[in-house]
Amino acid sequence: MTEEKSLNFIEEIVEEDLKNGRYQSIVTRFPPEPNGYLHIGHAKSICLNFGLAKKYGGRTNLRFDDTNPVTEETEYVESIKDDVRWLGFEWANELYASDYFEQLYAFAHKLIDKGLAYVDDSTSEEIAEQKGSPTVPGKRNKYAGRSVEENRTLFNEMREGKYADGSKVLRAKIDMNSPNMLMRDPILYRIKHAHHHRTGDTWCVYPMYDFAHGQSDSIENITHSICTLEFVPHRELYDWCIANLEIFPSHQYEFARLNMTYTVMSKRKLLQLVNEKHVTGWDDPRMSTISGMRRRGYPAASIREFCDRIGVARRENLIDVGLLEFCVREQLNKVALRRMVVFDPLKLVITNYPESEEVLMTDNNPEDPAAGEHGLLFSRELYIEREDFMENPPKKYFRLAPGQMVRLKSAYIIRCEEVIKDAAGNITEVHCTYVPESRSGSDTSGIQVKGTLHWVSVKHAVAVELRLYDRLFKVEDVANAEGDFKDHINADSLQVIEKAWGEPALLEDSHEERFQFLRKGYFNIDKDSRPGHLIFNRTVTLKDTWAKESKKA
Ligand code: ATP
Ligand code: MG
Repeated sequence: MTEEKSLNFIEEIVEEDLKNGRYQSIVTRFPPEPNGYLHIGHAKSICLNFGLAKKYGGRTNLRFDDTNPVTEETEYVESIKDDVRWLGFEWANELYASDYFEQLYAFAHKLIDKGLAYVDDSTSEEIAEQKGSPTVPGKRNKYAGRSVEENRTLFNEMREGKYADGSKVLRAKIDMNSPNMLMRDPILYRIKHAHHHRTGDTWCVYPMYDFAHGQSDSIENITHSICTLEFVPHRELYDWCIANLEIFPSHQYEFARLNMTYTVMSKRKLLQLVNEKHVTGWDDPRMSTISGMRRRGYPAASIREFCDRIGVARRENLIDVGLLEFCVREQLNKVALRRMVVFDPLKLVITNYPESEEVLMTDNNPEDPAAGEHGLLFSRELYIEREDFMENPPKKYFRLAPGQMVRLKSAYIIRCEEVIKDAAGNITEVHCTYVPESRSGSDTSGIQVKGTLHWVSVKHAVAVELRLYDRLFKVEDVANAEGDFKDHINADSLQVIEKAWGEPALLEDSHEERFQFLRKGYFNIDKDSRPGHLIFNRTVTLKDTWAKESKKA
């Protein structure tokens, strides 16, 4: 069955523009503000912008929207570049809105010369007050009547540093009666004596978003400038600036931002989680950041697949994080090496097995024959999972119990003969016998068993640390939940198993590998891991246990 994917609304626009010759080829951009790490919402925008250019043979710029000197840092620039590359995209040009400061300043002068901008000495309160409200028209103050000459002089002096922060602004002269409040003589420039991460102390006037974004698009000949729905009211101003500056006619299109269950996605909130130490950093594996997901072992391909599946629309909705996890599982199932790790060991002795050991061969990944086989050491003393044994089992219990038979994965069928306890009555060992003819791959025993257990050989087992993650928040729609978003943090989102027992192949495996620990979930090696102290993150469980539990509740 082949699925014909219909075009999303932006693809329809692009195809139309190319067909009727409005543009010969398209240019898009991804314009992050370097004031935090990228999150999965940004991934949607990245996949959309880079994806369009790829599909239609255009190009995409990576443009840092760094017009606010106070919140921006070089660390963020580097992390953003890393994340975009990791997602699998290459930009045509790496650009900075701050590189356009001189050009933007000249654009402002052009508006002044046309009588379309003026310097206003009012306080921000006065400006807000004079703006009116959507139902009350605004009124201009006396500064709006300044001459072109006076405005030129004052604006130059603003740049020269003659005035204090907040004492003057440059405003566009548009329409104080517009139903769109953004058109009521919006502020274009403000004074800010602040150090900028790239331009240093060269500037003390900085353009506002609305006088930087569209102009930067235009300077770069961006054909389709794609942003999220909250910018719909800005479009009128975007078009006004471009028309009056008579520069390249970029066009803005808006789509619905990604919202996802059980997480937050605003950089401001993510920064709070980091600063207040609710997580270990921007790349904490529980975070909705790209770097967190990468550290946790999400393959880039699964994030791209997720962005493709959720599509691009013009209506806001809340996407189930289960869909992202589904994409992660699907991808990992194809690439993960199969390994056995016992989380909570119970010692099992095979009383009729010789003292010697044996190497069994088993598939690295049954979904991928090319991944080959690996050796598995079997011996008389093994660990199995404590929860895989019950002394007094209920009916239909197919794991190990006195007198019952199970298969040890890739090895033999065993029968439980005896339970050994300490003085306090705790089970310390189970003694079993094995069926020599039942070896996996050459089983001639004719015995059918229902249960298969994972195990490791005691003598060869490697101690490993496991980090198991759960949702960072307890409520589905965190952004709209009552109270502060931090009230809803899940206190049990991280469970550490300090000592679990893994098969020795893990010592040889590359740090880049993804693993399926049989019956337990998908794992990767954490960046904190060291030789002699291996640490694994649970990337995702094998099945959607969450959905099952929430249905029960
Ligand atoms: P945040 O609110 O998380 O700080 P932002 O919109 O301020 O995000 P920017 O760095 O300005 O972050 O965003 C860069 C690009 O990513 C913009 O084009 C923006 O529209 C897009 N973007 C940001 N968040 C989302 C989201 N949740 N879904 C889709 N696109 C997003
Ligand atoms: Mg922003």
